[in-house]
Amino acid sequence: MTRGVLVITGASRGIGAATARLAGAAGYDVLVNFVSNADAATSVVAAIEAAGGSAFSVQADASSKAGIAAIFAAADARGTLAGLVNNAGVVDARSRVDEMDEARLTRMMGTNIVGPMLCAGEAVRRLSTLHGGAGGAIVNVSSVAARLGSPAEYVDYAASKAAIDTFTLGLAREVATEGIRVNAVRPGIIDTEIHASGGQPDRVQRVRGMVPMLREGKADEVARAILWLLSDEASYTTGALLDVGGGR
Ligand code: NAP
Repeated sequence: MTRGVLVITGASRGIGAATARLAGAAGYDVLVNFVSNADAATSVVAAIEAAGGSAFSVQADASSKAGIAAIFAAADARGTLAGLVNNAGVVDARSRVDEMDEARLTRMMGTNIVGPMLCAGEAVRRLSTLHGGAGGAIVNVSSVAARLGSPAEYVDYAASKAAIDTFTLGLAREVATEGIRVNAVRPGIIDTEIHASGGQPDRVQRVRGMVPMLREGKADEVARAILWLLSDEASYTTGALLDVGGGR
């Protein structure tokens, strides 16, 4: 008997994978969503199962309506939804705003804010007591970039994360009496492959010195905050933006 299905978008690598492993150990039946890296998703599921937990992977683009429909259809086929972690997110190459084109901005906003809002809508339709659901929790993965703006690096990414923050506040208040808590974590510089995907494989080493704790974070350190926000330990916490950035 699990605690219900937990949908985690982008759970094959990085913060999503760490969250999936902790959620499996905490008794959720974990939907490990990924877009292209099937081997990584398979190994996350295998690790959860080897530890005695329950998980399954779903290949789908969490920025598209069709992909999101596939994710929630797979969740429904498995059991009752317990919660959602809107984790999938992308960066792009270091650029100034006057160098960014429409394709880049459309991809950035599609993955980092439109997809998470559509996923949250699907989750609310299943969790809300207004719709006959039993309640649950949503955690959005934002970034300290929402506060910093990321000038000359990726203002588009920072703006997408600021949108996630405001979305978190608004949705939390919208569904506060419907058994759903909605919160966000705002990671700082975390050691994952996202930096290399934006063409800056040395970014962690470069930025580390700007963090008051003088070190990068580990994906597990963000995952633990996400698990707390999902849990009943956070029963009176909603609309919170929890910084996990070593003081940055
Ligand atoms: P990562 O290591 O690059 O992993 C990204 C994950 O998202 C992968 O599992 C990838 O799947 C998946 N993904 C990407 N686009 C997707 C899509 N359209 N549909 C479904 N899955 C998709 O990233 P990360 O560093 O763990 O970042 C996770 C979240 O934390 C993001 O929202 C990011 O903005 C945020 N964050 C990260 C940092 C940091 O320093 N790392 C700091 C602040 C915030 P595949 O394996 O199939 O490619």
